[in-house]
Amino acid sequence: MRDNDWTRILGWPGYRVWQSEIDEPGKRLKLWVRRKRGNLVLICSGCGKRVREIAEVYEREVRDLPCFEYRTTVVIELYRVKCPDCGLKTERVAQLPSKAPFSKRFEEAVGEACESASARQVARRFALPQSTVRAIDLRYLERWNAQRKRPALRHMGVDEIFLGKKTKFLTVVSNLESGEPLWFGRDRKKETLDEFFQTELSKRQRGQITAACVDMWAPYSISLQQWAPKAAIVYDKFHIMQHANAAIEEVRRAEFFRKGGAMRGLVKGKRWLLLSRWVHLSADKRQQLNELFALNRRVMKAYLLKESLDRLWTYTYEGAMLRYLQNWIRQLRWQRLRPFEKLANTLIDHLDGILNYCRVKVRFGVVEAINGNIKTLLRRGRGYKNLRYLLLKAQRMAVTKTEFVAFQKAA
Ligand SMILES: [Zn+2]
Repeated sequence: MRDNDWTRILGWPGYRVWQSEIDEPGKRLKLWVRRKRGNLVLICSGCGKRVREIAEVYEREVRDLPCFEYRTTVVIELYRVKCPDCGLKTERVAQLPSKAPFSKRFEEAVGEACESASARQVARRFALPQSTVRAIDLRYLERWNAQRKRPALRHMGVDEIFLGKKTKFLTVVSNLESGEPLWFGRDRKKETLDEFFQTELSKRQRGQITAACVDMWAPYSISLQQWAPKAAIVYDKFHIMQHANAAIEEVRRAEFFRKGGAMRGLVKGKRWLLLSRWVHLSADKRQQLNELFALNRRVMKAYLLKESLDRLWTYTYEGAMLRYLQNWIRQLRWQRLRPFEKLANTLIDHLDGILNYCRVKVRFGVVEAINGNIKTLLRRGRGYKNLRYLLLKAQRMAVTKTEFVAFQKAA
């Protein structure tokens, strides 16, 4: 094949192939390229300005997309330029986005593959180490992030994710309108959220926030009142139902320890069932729960209380919502279910923010979806010691709407 044909097949704008080498047993193809005659505009990689003076010529070898069965390497002739502002610099070339030995379109292929498969799988497919795949993916996401427009933050969500015994909590701030996470912070203190307001938003941007969906967790509310006083605080269903689930779990455990013998065996392993909504259970699972309820009235009562609390958000009129909640709390009398009494007290203390659901229209379920996405990523990846990478990954997931897959599975 003539070099001219290789130039057309390679398709690097402004570059021509002047030498090629085929290693048939090794299934490798190597192409040497240099600038076409008319392509002489040199750009400084430091400042992005045009430079005329060339200091030296050198070669770089990068891996490009494969050509049929052949792994392809391109050896590119490059210039080091003398920039009046930056001094000695390498020239900027569109096909070489970083110092790593890969072409831009090769990195894009790896990055796209990482959107639907784990780093381990992609590494096997491209015959690269996993750490290299993650580094390529991170650069791919950084480039995507740098050129996209970010919507204004008016409705914010604040959530916490438990990462594990060592790293503990991660605070997640999200944009409820665009449905994407914006920022991660270690821990879940007031100072954690303070840092978001201080480092990520200007005073004007903080003033634009009109609503915030948060958990009933005082440090977050205090930080919000300080930095975004105009934002109405909304305690959303997702978080409140998490507390209800914690209460039911406490009742189940207490019953498990209180009663011995047969009861122990029956309550054991029913955690997941008790946390599931009745409507989502199959006939078989409902039967299992009914058997449990027949033997333990307290667990049954706790389950019914959780189920009925869920209906609180079917009300959009404040008065009706308040009445329903009051009736719910009245049902607790004489039940001696301490975990639910504690929950009721918490709800009374946070009444205003609960009723804000009727006053401020925010997208519910977003915090839950983002939370689910991050957990899916963490389960699949393991390589997320780098929080920046995890954030970009979750943002990309939200924008490409991969979220709903994860969300529906969790429900
Ligand atoms: Zn420069």
